[in-house]
Amino acid sequence: MQQYIDEAVSHYRDLLTRQLARAEALEQESPAVDFAGVDQVIIGACPGDGIGPIIFREALRVLKKLLADELAAGKVVIREIDGLTLEERLRCGKAIPDPVLEALRACHVILKGPTTTPGAGSGPSLESANVAMRRELDLFANMRPITVPKLGIDWAFFRENTEGEYVLGSQGIEVPGRLTMDFKVTTVAGTRRIAKAAFDYARANGKTRVAIVTKANIMKKTDGMFSAVCHQVARDYPGIQADEWYVDIMSANLINEAVRDQFQVFVLPNLYGDIITDEAAQLQGGVGTAGSANIGSRCAMFEAIHGSAPRMMEEGLGEYANPASILKAGEMLLRHIGRAAAADRLAAAMADLDREGRVVVTGNRDGATCRDYAEGLLAKLG
Ligand code: NAD
Repeated sequence: MQQYIDEAVSHYRDLLTRQLARAEALEQESPAVDFAGVDQVIIGACPGDGIGPIIFREALRVLKKLLADELAAGKVVIREIDGLTLEERLRCGKAIPDPVLEALRACHVILKGPTTTPGAGSGPSLESANVAMRRELDLFANMRPITVPKLGIDWAFFRENTEGEYVLGSQGIEVPGRLTMDFKVTTVAGTRRIAKAAFDYARANGKTRVAIVTKANIMKKTDGMFSAVCHQVARDYPGIQADEWYVDIMSANLINEAVRDQFQVFVLPNLYGDIITDEAAQLQGGVGTAGSANIGSRCAMFEAIHGSAPRMMEEGLGEYANPASILKAGEMLLRHIGRAAAADRLAAAMADLDREGRVVVTGNRDGATCRDYAEGLLAKLG
């Protein structure tokens, strides 16, 4: 047993040393890209796995239509990046193959289809391509909007994207047959920047409340500090109220009709943000309707909130997958690069199509196909 303890202490020293170096690097803030000064915006396109290439193909047709003039003038380039597939990642034994990472780094923004992560016990261990991309490109703010106008729901979730359980999730300790132990890390600088992103968004969008959601009563160090830093940041935003919530009661409140329409902006550590935004997406019509932005100061990546849906593929339902998720990600991408008019056209066309109720994607054979939905949009975009 002593041998396990010695190995664990050495492993822990190594983790702490690397995390302290990361925390120090985070303290050097880098300014965000100003797209008004970029002559040619490079959009990287990665279709992903499973239903990814199917929904991606349709989203790309719609984006190309919206950006047709700018693509023709060379003001925007869509660069298709191959190799972010499960087969290629397994072949290289890397979450993101080196040439793919190099190609991603050369883009201003990335549109990404869902990528499969093999689960424990289902073949070779591979880190999630998403987690790796968020870390490698330092995409610290995961913004997930959820709107259901008829229920009065207009929520913006700001999930911290590079810390918490995720950064150390594959580096736990095991004493075989006895116990396992995982680690969670939260830095002051990492928390401050996600809190600022949430409060900046609130201020820019006329919102008056930000809910800070943690489990600080149990995870006293990590979540306790997350909450304290968010409250400190809040002091720089007079007129915006910072409310303290625990994630368990917040999960209940999201389905409590009496209170849920009072929430506006949420800021959460990584794991709670991951879980609670799927719950929120379900209220909007399912994960197939929700897009997400992963924003860093130099680069940003936009994607559906769901995964590669292997079960749909096994059942031959891939063509019935809803492309609304990745199209909403496309809308966020357009806004991020300063193409608000194109984003508004896309949002209006999607809202129109949904209101008409002629093309309804259910994820099943009783609904429209992904292609039908894109055709409906393309017809509206003229
Ligand atoms: P999933 O999100 O892939 O699918 C769960 C279920 O949601 C599906 O069976 C389907 O019923 C429904 N669904 C998902 N997308 C839909 C769409 N566009 N239209 C209609 N219905 C849709 O979740 P999972 O099965 O837990 O994960 C599968 C794989 O995806 C795993 O390897 C996981 O690691 C990975 N994953 C990737 C990402 C990402 O790339 N961002 C996110 C989550 C999960």
